[in-house]
Amino acid sequence: MRSFENLIQDVQNKNLCHRCGGCVTFCTAINYGALEMKSNGFPGYKDKEKCIECGICHILCPEINDLNDEIVKQTGWSAPAGRIISTNIVRARDRQVLDRATDGGAVTAILLHLLETGRIDGAIVSKHVGLFNREPCLASTKEDILDACGSFFDASHGMVLYSEHYSTYSPSIQALGMVKKHGARKVAFVGTPCQIITLRKMQVLGVVPADSIYCILGLFCSGNFAFDDNSRMRLEKIGDFKWSDVKKINIKGKLYVYLNNGVIHTLPLDELDFIKRDACRYCADYSAEFADLSFGGIGAEEGWTTVLTRTPLGMKIFDAADGSVLEKYGQETQPQDQGEEQLARNRIRKLHQLIRHHKYAQLGIDDQGAADPEYDKLVQELKELEDKYPGLENLPGQSEIPNYTRKALNRIIEKSAEKTKLCVEHRIELG
Ligand SMILES: Cc1cc2nc3c(=O)[nH]c(=O)nc-3n(C[C@H](O)[C@H](O)[C@H](O)COP(=O)(O)OP(=O)(O)OC[C@H]3O[C@@H](n4cnc5c(N)ncnc54)[C@H](O)[C@@H]3O)c2cc1C
Ligand code: SF4
Ligand code: SF4
Ligand code: SF4
Repeated sequence: MRSFENLIQDVQNKNLCHRCGGCVTFCTAINYGALEMKSNGFPGYKDKEKCIECGICHILCPEINDLNDEIVKQTGWSAPAGRIISTNIVRARDRQVLDRATDGGAVTAILLHLLETGRIDGAIVSKHVGLFNREPCLASTKEDILDACGSFFDASHGMVLYSEHYSTYSPSIQALGMVKKHGARKVAFVGTPCQIITLRKMQVLGVVPADSIYCILGLFCSGNFAFDDNSRMRLEKIGDFKWSDVKKINIKGKLYVYLNNGVIHTLPLDELDFIKRDACRYCADYSAEFADLSFGGIGAEEGWTTVLTRTPLGMKIFDAADGSVLEKYGQETQPQDQGEEQLARNRIRKLHQLIRHHKYAQLGIDDQGAADPEYDKLVQELKELEDKYPGLENLPGQSEIPNYTRKALNRIIEKSAEKTKLCVEHRIELG
């Protein structure tokens, strides 16, 4: 019989625990109540007597390989960076989102769109508590989702409160425990690649609280940081800035420190190794390879987000948001750009979208819509427009990815390979 004891031996004692919180969240959601997250952020026994040795906490841990083949099958994963149906560079159309976002606000725009169209009744996001720290929460209103957006520093929380310990890591899975208590049914989950692996395993096992998840939005991740006050001061020296002048931080290949006066300082990630969480050294997943949609800043210009669609559900979500709440890089609509060609281009895009949704409905992957009774008319209209305006709209298929998205994809594959190489080296060192 397996139990949490095996996790202590196989994962915790080797410093491999990602602190995803999956083990505790399952044990609590099913009401066994044997585990809890300790104040140091790691899982531990709350009441060992309550453990029935079901072994599920062990099997769903991202460090345990038992269900790897199943999650590969479930998501259609393939090398080198997971399944990629399409690569897009986008940003939110809503300025309120864009002004607060980490990159292009794509995550927030999509969450708001899902909420407004009734596909979800909440989202697990991570809001700021102090200068670095993030705390997972269930956001069920537009304001809550906007509140959690971006990488801002809220100086009102001050540094003093959190001076002993800073961490950029947010244990988001734990917030899934709140979903049912708050009367929500289906939520979107935003999190790191390690958390997503745990969730996929929960889905394969069909265990709570994964039944509350509508879709999984993954953030690219080169690592999370945890540090104390001394390291915080060392960072100031390395980066040549003062924390009191910092407006926001972001990670994309380097650590970007944005100052209030508009200056941006960059710190190479290999110089920050001293504050990286231990478990992050042994992690190979850069681009959230098991998510429905994955998001990062790499490969995109400042103010834009690179988005990978990975599953049919992810594609459906992206298609619905594309053109309504998102705009694509290189296809921004200028106010003066409303001539006949632009209108035709917009209509062609819309028709492609409607036709795809009709197909999703037929395949049974659209939980809301039914097949479109006007389908034949849509196909006819599209044909006429494409005949009249040949080459006006190149829809992104893998063979037609425009140059800039192909470059972004190459960067992601490079970064994934680098992270995998480091992970293998560190694991060899570990023995
Ligand atoms: C620790 C970390 C490391 C990253 N490393 C890279 C990298 O190396 N390369 C790269 O290209 N991109 C990286 N990213 C992703 C990047 O910073 C952006 O989150 C991504 O581009 C989406 O931007 P956006 O403007 O579309 O998202 P926004 O619209 O700003 O939304 C961001 C969402 O992420 C949630 N969130 C923020 N911080 C966390 C956190 N710590 N844990 C869980 N959820 C969180 C917020 O609640 C919000 O819902 C990293 C993100 C994190 C959190
Ligand atoms: S009851 Fe099951 S999930 Fe909870 S600690 Fe024991 S083995 Fe793990
Ligand atoms: S399931 Fe997550 S929190 Fe639990 S031991 Fe594994 S990595 Fe750590
Ligand atoms: S580097 Fe890996 S272990 Fe660390 S937070 Fe990112 S996904 Fe999780």
